[in-house]
Amino acid sequence: MIKLYNNFIRIFTDLPDHTTLLIHSLEGCPLHCFGCHNYDEIIANTPKIYKMPDDLYDYIGKSGFLFDAIMFSGGEFLISPIDEIRTLLKNVRIRFAGKIIVTTSGIYHQKMRSLYEENLVDGIHIDMKLPYHVLDVKEDAQIYRDIIGITPSEKVVQQFLASIDTVIAHNSPLDQVRTVRYPLLDESFFTAIRHFVDERKTYHNSIVPYYLNEFVPPAS
Ligand code: SF4
Repeated sequence: MIKLYNNFIRIFTDLPDHTTLLIHSLEGCPLHCFGCHNYDEIIANTPKIYKMPDDLYDYIGKSGFLFDAIMFSGGEFLISPIDEIRTLLKNVRIRFAGKIIVTTSGIYHQKMRSLYEENLVDGIHIDMKLPYHVLDVKEDAQIYRDIIGITPSEKVVQQFLASIDTVIAHNSPLDQVRTVRYPLLDESFFTAIRHFVDERKTYHNSIVPYYLNEFVPPAS
């Protein structure tokens, strides 16, 4: 069963024009990104106090009317088995009339596709952390390690790219592609990412928004 961060958080900015309930899964993350805000508190050291899906269903029953979206984040929300993710989101759909959003790095492409196909999400917010399409997994291994904390296989890189393409093709204003302006990277990285996103948006005739967000160092 998916464990959830004990604090359900109200946010206003991540999904424009929505009051959103942010839920963090405590199931971990396969990446270790530079400056990850969640790493120490909820990935490396899983809190001893947590909530379970039933607690969330109760909360929605009592306070769901205060929100018009629920966003599932991590760690990596999609790291859990697809059956558990499906059960959680189906139960939220039954109880909550607002939008359901999932954030992801894109590493679990097939699970992400399933959520779209089964109408269990209204939007996916995906990070394009590097210009995967122009990097070489061997020659640029250090760049990968510096930014996402692992050296991915070519297959993983293809998952990232396929996931970004799928989000753009889904073509909803509730989807997002976003990039953190990591201070370790030259401006040319962000230009290359932007080119990829623009090209796929043109191809799919897509309105999915793209955001280049400033890097905010985690609190020490
Ligand atoms: S994918 Fe997200 S949660 Fe995972 S390490 Fe990177 S920034 Fe943190």
